[in-house]
Amino acid sequence: MEIACLDLEGVLVPEIWIEFANKTGIEELKATTRDIPDYDVLMKQRLRILDEHNLKIQDIQEVIATLSPLEGAREFVDWLRERFQVIILSDTFYEFSQPLMRQLGFPTLFCHRLITDEEGRVTDYKLRQADPKRQSIRALQTIYYRTIAAGDSYNDTTMLAEADAGILFHAPQNVIEEFPQFPAVHTYEDLKKEFIKASNRDLTL
Ligand SMILES: [Mg+2]
Repeated sequence: MEIACLDLEGVLVPEIWIEFANKTGIEELKATTRDIPDYDVLMKQRLRILDEHNLKIQDIQEVIATLSPLEGAREFVDWLRERFQVIILSDTFYEFSQPLMRQLGFPTLFCHRLITDEEGRVTDYKLRQADPKRQSIRALQTIYYRTIAAGDSYNDTTMLAEADAGILFHAPQNVIEEFPQFPAVHTYEDLKKEFIKASNRDLTL
């Protein structure tokens, strides 16, 4: 039995915080782990900015609902789900991703949670576990699933390495060069072919 594991942001949908910053015009929200390497410091800053702009979870979801998955993403997910059980392994938050997941037909998603109060103010966040993508692959292996994983960035590489087969999709050149052991593709058509190649079953496009 085989399970396909996909990263979300950069693979099926745009980077949610960046797009949210673009939509709202809040420049400070464009900071990423490249600017602030300590994830907790970065998240606390994001939550403070949301508060300063009086953005409740409902407002945030309304803005995110105006975003779309990447072109061809829905069709790709549908294609994949006809051939594999599919799990999205992401470092996003359920409350953030909800409007985009709706547009993808709600495939299974393992990610983190935001904590909100009664008014919908985002007060905190809860990571599901450390190194969650890799741990999820390991968990699937303990129930004897063969895993094929695809992702675009550094936070996916432990998942790709742990999986039976790993594929880089939409990855920047530096990641491709640093991890030459993974095939690297840039279109959904090529990604489909890599999944077929990695599968131990006889699949077709
Ligand atoms: Mg990504």
